[in-house]
Amino acid sequence: MNNKTKATWMLATALSLMLAACGNEHAAEPPAPTESPKPTETPKQTDAKKPVESKKPSDSSGDSSVVPAPPVTSVNSGSAKDAKAEKEKEKETKEAKAKETKETKATKDKPTPSESADKQNQTPGATEAVSDNGKAGASGPKNPAAAVTGGKTKEPPATGTGDRKALSWYYMKKPKGQVPNFPAETKSFTKDMKALWVGTGKKVYLTIDTGGPLGDIDTLVKSLKDNKVKANFFIAGYNVKKNPDFIRTLVADGHLIANHTMTHTDMNTQTDEQVRKEIEDYEKLYKDVTGKDIQPYFRFPYGRYNTHLLKMVSDMGYTSVFWSTAMRDWEPRKNGAEDPYNDIMNNLHDGNIILMHQGSPENIQALDKIIKAVKKAGYEFALLSDIEPPK
Ligand SMILES: [Zn+2]
Repeated sequence: MNNKTKATWMLATALSLMLAACGNEHAAEPPAPTESPKPTETPKQTDAKKPVESKKPSDSSGDSSVVPAPPVTSVNSGSAKDAKAEKEKEKETKEAKAKETKETKATKDKPTPSESADKQNQTPGATEAVSDNGKAGASGPKNPAAAVTGGKTKEPPATGTGDRKALSWYYMKKPKGQVPNFPAETKSFTKDMKALWVGTGKKVYLTIDTGGPLGDIDTLVKSLKDNKVKANFFIAGYNVKKNPDFIRTLVADGHLIANHTMTHTDMNTQTDEQVRKEIEDYEKLYKDVTGKDIQPYFRFPYGRYNTHLLKMVSDMGYTSVFWSTAMRDWEPRKNGAEDPYNDIMNNLHDGNIILMHQGSPENIQALDKIIKAVKKAGYEFALLSDIEPPK
């Protein structure tokens, strides 16, 4: 790996999962009582599954940044088939609702992690605890992500146990300029589970997720172009079908487009065959639309995954990309474009992989300003492909 771009491909080698003692569940996935980030109606986008950004103590900017998990269902809806789609959509909606009920439950169980992280971060002492947990590699308490498991009743095969234990990505925010702490389960990732969540150096990887609405495409494309910035796009297949010209424009502009599945469904609820199909169908679609092969990067919708799938996806040639900054951007922002701007600037750190949902109007409105500020702070925008892959 060359030093410049060398990123921390933190593919940790399996550290025993000392689940044992250490009962401290840092920002793990404790059962969340209430907080249902499931604004069924406003789901703009979703992915940020549970990017739990625990609020950093210092930055008391109000919005508790515990970016919890975006409502899982929301995104699924859009499949692009004109009129027919509409009907199907309705149908889907109904099904989704039914499903939602179940998943909501699951979601509720999870969002807590965020909260807990948040709480912990609010108090100095707690913050330390969180930090320690993060570092605690081996000794770190295992993430009770198991909680998440419970909710998915459906299709998932043996989900819920062992290497199929459902996990949701999140991170524990630290003071401005510092790299966040990441889930303890990352310590158990082995070399054959290629994954990435933060790079190194004065680089920022802007990853734009389009699992939900496409939003203001023109402003998005223009903001990137005007600032000569290349971004990384994770666009769900149904959106690619909806607007293939948009994808072709991105490719022409030099952006990186990666695999985000066809339907943007929680992969934990799918069988291996279904997951494989989601990915392979995307590859084919991408090829049909652009004439090129898809870049070998993958993002689990909502950041929901399990290590079995992580390995499977890796075996298919992909590196799974998570993130080190996410926002609660699947719902309207209280302070408009100021929110995404502050969320990002207050958490800017070396190798920052930013998750931004394209469907959030505030994100797009703030993009130009964000880009300029990030550059001014001394960072350069880069593509995931600039990061040296793990050997
Ligand atoms: Zn997504």
